[in-house]
Formats: sequence, structure tokens, C-alpha cells
Amino acid sequence: MHHTQSNLIEINEKIKNKINDLSLSEYNPKVIAVSKTFSEEDIMPLIKYGHCDFGENKVQEAQKKWPKLKELNKNLKLHMLGRLQTNKVKNAVEIFDYIHSLDSLKLANKISNEIHKKSKKIKIFIQINLGSEKQKSGIEPSDLEQFYNNCKTLKLDIIGTMCIPPDTKDPRHFFKDLMQLNKKINLPEISMGMTNDYLDALEYKSTYLRIGTGIFGKRTK
Ligand SMILES: *Cc1c(COP(=O)(O)O)cnc(C)c1O
Repeated sequence: MHHTQSNLIEINEKIKNKINDLSLSEYNPKVIAVSKTFSEEDIMPLIKYGHCDFGENKVQEAQKKWPKLKELNKNLKLHMLGRLQTNKVKNAVEIFDYIHSLDSLKLANKISNEIHKKSKKIKIFIQINLGSEKQKSGIEPSDLEQFYNNCKTLKLDIIGTMCIPPDTKDPRHFFKDLMQLNKKINLPEISMGMTNDYLDALEYKSTYLRIGTGIFGKRTK
């Protein structure tokens, strides 16, 4: 068995056990295998195993790796996780099925234009800057409701919110904040939890766990 397969199986097992411990029935979070920097060689075994959700953080890299794989496997869903520049939106909407990093009105406008031009269906998460970190992108929590209403006017299919907590602090209170914000605007999905904290994210009802290192190993690029 390929190491990415055994890693994923182990992670799925841990998730199942944690959900049992939490006594949450009918809770079925998805794992996004974050394949940035890794090649087809490491991705193919997961596709063969039947895994469908994959994540990348750069449009150009995704364009190189995924058109062929998606052609062979119609069930694959590709998630854009990284910061998206407006000049890359045209290419992004061609290859991605989900965008987790909507972080400005300018970007929302651009995405809206492109998906309506091409009649593409893309599901979108609003990224929230919970730590109010200057270097990180995301909508301020206090601006979320207004921003969400603007997105609805643009006819974007907003399905949830996303966060990347500051890595120096205990992520749990950020997870809790995002869960509450998400509830406030009544969205079904939450994108939070990475290799180091996906089990914590389950306590706050994350529905999309973004796991890279835990599945593929350490990134060297
Ligand atoms: C790289 C990345 C991940 C995965 O990180 P790991 O710690 O390797 O699991 C998750 N989310 C985003 C936005 C990323 O860029």
C-alpha cells in the first residue's frame, strides 16, 4: 500500500473515533487532501483508493497537474485554498470546483463575472481573518454579514466560512468563533482544521478538514 493511502486510512479512523467520542451521529466531515507541491505519483494512489476531494493553493500549479486527472476521473473535486489574485480568477474558475479563499469585494465581483460568463457552478467559502492579523487575508468578523449580503446580490453560491488560525495560539477558540459566526449567517459548511489541529476542529463541527502534511508527508518546496 502506498504511504498516502495508509496515512489517509489512519486519519479517517481517527476522525471516526473522535466523532464516536463526541457522540455526534449524522456528522460526516469531508477530508480535503491538500496536494500542493506533490506530483501525480503521490496523488494517483489516493484517486485509486477512491478519494475525491483535493486541495491546491496556486492556480498555475493546479493548471499543470489537474486537467488530465479530472478528465480521467469525473468525480474529482478540486478546492482552491490559497490567496486568489483577481488576474488569476479566469483560470481558477476553469479548474476549481470550490474556492475557500474569498476575501474581498473586488474578488467577489471578478468571480461573479467569470462564473456567469461561463455558466460555471462554483461553491464558495468566505475566508475570515479571526486573529485580525495584518499579514493574513480575510474578512473582518464584524463585516461578515454585510459582505455576505453583497455576495448574495452578486449571485455567488456561498456555502460556508473558512479560517486559518494564527499558528502560535491554541486554535480552539478561533474554531469556536468561526462556528458561531457561521451559525449567525446560517451557512451549512465550515472549512477549518489542518494536519495539526483537525481533531480539535471536529469539536466545533468543521465540515471540511484541509489535510496536507498528514497525508502526503513533509513539503520540501
Ligand atoms: C497547505 C494548506 C493546508 C494544509 O496544511 P497541512 O498543515 O500540511 O495540513 C491547509 N489549508 C491551507 C489554506 C493551506 O494552504
